[in-house]
Amino acid sequence: MTRLHIDWTACDGRGLCTELLEEMLVEDEWGYPVSRDGTTEPVVPPPLEDAAKRAVDRCPMLALKLVRR
Ligand code: SF4
Repeated sequence: MTRLHIDWTACDGRGLCTELLEEMLVEDEWGYPVSRDGTTEPVVPPPLEDAAKRAVDRCPMLALKLVRR
């Protein structure tokens, strides 16, 4: 399955991905993205794979990637 890996050490916490992928991500109190399901590497549901790819491509800090595990 496809999961969204978030590298918080690279993220600048401005929240673009939470706008592009609001079904999966929400901002924490500092603006960093966290998954709505509470996992550190959330599963990407198949209907959201295109949106997840867009979020990965548009992250200015290259802090997101899709992984298969
Ligand atoms: S788009 Fe990238 S840099 Fe911006 S909040 Fe999301 S992970 Fe962080």
